[in-house]
Amino acid sequence: MTDVDVLVVGSGAAGLCAALAAVEHGAHRVLVAEGSPEVGGSSRLSGGIVMGSRSGVQHANEIYEEEDDLFHDYRSLMRWDIAAGPVRKFARRSGETIDWLAAHGVPFFDRLIFGGEERRPRSHAVDGGGQALIDALHRAATARQIDIALGQRVDRLLVEDGRVVGVAVGDDEITAAAVVLATGGFGAAPEKIAELFPSAWDPERTWYIGHDGARGDALDLAGALGAQVTGHDRGLRTLGPGGTFVNEALLPGWVVLLDPNGHRFADETAPYGILDNAVRAHGNRCVAFLDAAALEPPADLADRYRDAYKQVWPNHAPFKPRHYKTEMIEFLLGQKTAFVADDIASLAVEVGLDPTAVVGEIDRYNAFADAGTDADYGKAGKFLVPLRTPPFYAVPLYPIAVNLTGAGLRIDDCARVVGADGRPVPGLFAAGECVGGLLGPLYMGSGNSLGLATGVGRIAGEEAAALATGAQH
Ligand SMILES: Cc1cc2nc3c(=O)[nH]c(=O)nc-3n(C[C@H](O)[C@H](O)[C@H](O)COP(=O)(O)OP(=O)(O)OC[C@H]3O[C@@H](n4cnc5c(N)ncnc54)[C@H](O)[C@@H]3O)c2cc1C
Repeated sequence: MTDVDVLVVGSGAAGLCAALAAVEHGAHRVLVAEGSPEVGGSSRLSGGIVMGSRSGVQHANEIYEEEDDLFHDYRSLMRWDIAAGPVRKFARRSGETIDWLAAHGVPFFDRLIFGGEERRPRSHAVDGGGQALIDALHRAATARQIDIALGQRVDRLLVEDGRVVGVAVGDDEITAAAVVLATGGFGAAPEKIAELFPSAWDPERTWYIGHDGARGDALDLAGALGAQVTGHDRGLRTLGPGGTFVNEALLPGWVVLLDPNGHRFADETAPYGILDNAVRAHGNRCVAFLDAAALEPPADLADRYRDAYKQVWPNHAPFKPRHYKTEMIEFLLGQKTAFVADDIASLAVEVGLDPTAVVGEIDRYNAFADAGTDADYGKAGKFLVPLRTPPFYAVPLYPIAVNLTGAGLRIDDCARVVGADGRPVPGLFAAGECVGGLLGPLYMGSGNSLGLATGVGRIAGEEAAALATGAQH
């Protein structure tokens, strides 16, 4: 007889969904071990946007999708470079997962939002963001007598004859019929970013926007058993100048981004996952250009500068520039992480770009703005504002704000961790950001990660319960 049926490591969205699903599938004694003093991890800090197809909210909005529409879009966007088995299962059940979350008290808005470039919106916004998501799941877990042990950082898996039979926190051992790892990503572990997410690694600038429990413990715990790791160099980075610890996922539409050759390379209002991918393909850094009018808009243009974002999220205040406003630009100028000049050519020289290329590119952009059409990258006309008011500013940007990480444990479509020999490690499951191979080469859009965390969390909990109760198929 084990101490518990299912032991879940980590109390973020993935862990709480796994624990709830385990109880609903017959596990009687479910324990969540949480390393930090509070429940929720990065999920609690998140924006609370969850992707799902064929949910009740979609239907209420008269959006009807086929069973594999999300999977098809997902796999196409990722150029098939994903673990299709687990992703297909997640995608097929994603709408049902949204309904399940709602039934557990997660307060979704009736209105959907676009997470990326999908034709019909699939992203569900939680009223109250990640905190409200975690609060609801926490309440549901408590109501079902699921114990959550805080301040218990699991540092070892117990193994007998190659089978995981429990966990240890120091000298304390607890046995379980099944263990689910849901320890989140590794954004808070610089050495793991350097190794597993090198395109985000800059020793001087890289920082993590999430919870300090995201140290990649699952990689160490399961790695000690030889578990496979997949999804090298994946995740979501957003752009920053370094040294500010201000996350700016969405840029104001009037900013112009130039690559290291001094050329534009994307619609600056692209979804952040898409923009991140474009930056990676164009030298992995870029420079934002703006002018004095953007900082102090003239009265007749004030509306154009103010209404600078495509995204309107019901659970979020209107988006506003974070780096591209007077006080922050002055701070950056003082730090020498931004530059100012009275003409574009001098500014280009200041930031180390070819002045001929930059002057040509800004002239070209200004002509598009005058015409109201971005013939190069298709940025919407309402965001095209010419850069003609000196002084001009340039802010070199790097993809150094780690939002989430995509390398992690390889799982199969039953959320079982795959061992070195290609077989599931008996007794061991994983879900959430500690899993690899489900995020593709780019981030699909807002809600991608919480969609996976909740959806795969449920699958892991169900399968762990099936193992624990002897009902495993
Ligand atoms: C600011 C921010 C905003 C975001 N917004 C969104 C969004 O709107 N939509 C979206 O899809 N994604 C978003 N993301 C990403 C998303 O929130 C995360 O990928 C997701 O919440 C991860 O869930 P998880 O359950 O896997 O991990 P977490 O929520 O991080 O939970 C992991 C938990 O495990 C604990 N833990 C770690 N190691 C151990 C151990 N050894 N023993 C015991 N416990 C341990 C941690 O302390 C933590 O509490 C955002 C991320 C951040 C940081």
